[in-house]
Amino acid sequence: MTLDSCFSQNYAQARERFLAAARRREAHLESHKLDRTGVLGEELSTDIALVRAPDAKGLLIISSAMHGVEGFCGSACQLALLDDEDLLKRARDAGVALLLIHAINPYGFSWCSRTNEENVDLNRNAQPFPGPLPENPGYAELHPLLLPAVWPPNAENRKAIAAYVEQRGPIAFRDAVSRGQYTHPGGLFFGGDRATWSRRTLEHALRSHGAGFADIGWIDVHTGLGPAGHGEKIFAGRRDPEEIARARRWWGLDVAVPFAGTSASADITGHLTSNAQAVCPDARHTLMALEFGTVPFETMIDALRGEAWLRAHPDASTDLADLIRLQVRNAFYFDQDAWKGMVLGQSRLAILQAIAGLKPD
Ligand SMILES: [Zn+2]
Repeated sequence: MTLDSCFSQNYAQARERFLAAARRREAHLESHKLDRTGVLGEELSTDIALVRAPDAKGLLIISSAMHGVEGFCGSACQLALLDDEDLLKRARDAGVALLLIHAINPYGFSWCSRTNEENVDLNRNAQPFPGPLPENPGYAELHPLLLPAVWPPNAENRKAIAAYVEQRGPIAFRDAVSRGQYTHPGGLFFGGDRATWSRRTLEHALRSHGAGFADIGWIDVHTGLGPAGHGEKIFAGRRDPEEIARARRWWGLDVAVPFAGTSASADITGHLTSNAQAVCPDARHTLMALEFGTVPFETMIDALRGEAWLRAHPDASTDLADLIRLQVRNAFYFDQDAWKGMVLGQSRLAILQAIAGLKPD
């Protein structure tokens, strides 16, 4: 296993490698095809591999590309695991089955977009549509500034945003922009107006493979927030002190809790992992997002503004479109050995800890 064989150059390569690795492990495999094509004209699919363990009581889910472009990282964590004989043996011996969900948002992975084929942020999509939906008046105020008429934004636009951050503070800016909104379909962090294809696919996978397990752990791999290469362990379960305490027993006291204000992430609702409880109500759930830092928040938001602008301007020149997609990729994926090494080391540890947590006493 080398860094290059884990970290793929594009979605098509990542998918091919994932399918081949899962077949080598004789995993149960299924592909859920999306009715769209990728940037290279390739088929788009969420691929699911179940690595069984004899008499397994526990199930560990590891998922990638909830936010499309973040799949460069998550896919690598999955490929490293499928090539890790020692870790796979530990899971088997502990009676833990592994469910690897590759590219929950294949469109975004292929097209270097954080959102899906309908510009929906999947981690704001687990809402009881048509409502009630969370309100975010702060976003409506910022939207015209975030999506200016021309790209890149002019000096006047940058000054207006800087003035907002200066007056309200960076946390208020982060929360208004990234908490999620349901009023501007072309905007940033839009949560959608119905259950997306990806959400339905994920629910189907949970129903068909999660039922029957008494104990479910889930590591959903993300990138973009926090210091470069640092994996923040973000609690992704319900607002239940017992669940939080268990997540900290598994993964350490530094598990961050967004609704307690201890995370680089805003306090969001509607993240898809939160659906696990509803779909598999009889299991005990221990869930986290493993979020690897890349660039500063402002740089990431700039990349996402460019992406939203491009969706609103499909007639943009090919050069500008390519540049915007490259900026998004660079904001969510560091093509550097040191960063990749940090990712795989921390991912392996989190998986090892989850296996230990799921092992029956
Ligand atoms: Zn993410």
